[in-house]
Amino acid sequence: MKLRNELGIILKTQGEIEAMKEAGRVSAKALRMAGEIVRPGISTWDIDAYAEEVIRMEGGIPGFKGYGGFPGTICASVNCQVVHGIPSKRVILKEGDIISIDTGAIIDGWYGDNAWTFPVGEIAPRTKLLLETTEKALFAGLAQVKEGATLGDIGAAIQQVAERPGFGVVREYVGHGIGRDMHEPPNVPNYGKKGKGIRLEVGMCLAIEPMVNQGTRMVRQMPDGWTVETLDKLPSAHFEKSIALTADGPVILTQE
Ligand code: MG
Repeated sequence: MKLRNELGIILKTQGEIEAMKEAGRVSAKALRMAGEIVRPGISTWDIDAYAEEVIRMEGGIPGFKGYGGFPGTICASVNCQVVHGIPSKRVILKEGDIISIDTGAIIDGWYGDNAWTFPVGEIAPRTKLLLETTEKALFAGLAQVKEGATLGDIGAAIQQVAERPGFGVVREYVGHGIGRDMHEPPNVPNYGKKGKGIRLEVGMCLAIEPMVNQGTRMVRQMPDGWTVETLDKLPSAHFEKSIALTADGPVILTQE
């Protein structure tokens, strides 16, 4: 029987969290290795194929492939694409681009989910600051995960870091609970008020994933039904890790 709290959030046992670490490890390995082949001239299709090979070699199943009909193993979101970019032979990376790679693996029915934004060669200084800031915002959010803290604490910490240099925090897409489903309750917004929102409990597993835009926070979904882009076509960064709150404190699930 699944243990749910009164909000319908599925709380994981210590044993289940151990199992999720394996899905997290494979997701993290696929992300790191995909990131290592990012260079000018490579297509997002080739990065996708490589990530799939890594996941299957580790005994995993690509978590995104077929999820809601998504065709790829990775989400490959280049420059003004925020999230959910579809890998393609026609998308060839070039010097100065940035690419958010999102990878997920399933092991024994448990999901892992993480993302990172990589520079392609030298990038513009303001875009470099966007990447540094979004990474910092992710870690600020992760640092809030402790018993008695709230989802508002996570959102507020992320928002404060992200908005300080004048960047825009995406509202329409948020982090999420994770477990035997990739997306479980609760939603984990990247904005909010300290002390507000659902209180964190031991057994919660969350994917925290700030999406931060260099310009306006406004986004739109493209006609392909997946790709999300910034409205002003300025770059967007996306960093994600999955984390569990255990009786012994927080544990990053997506690490090797
Ligand atoms: Mg996610």
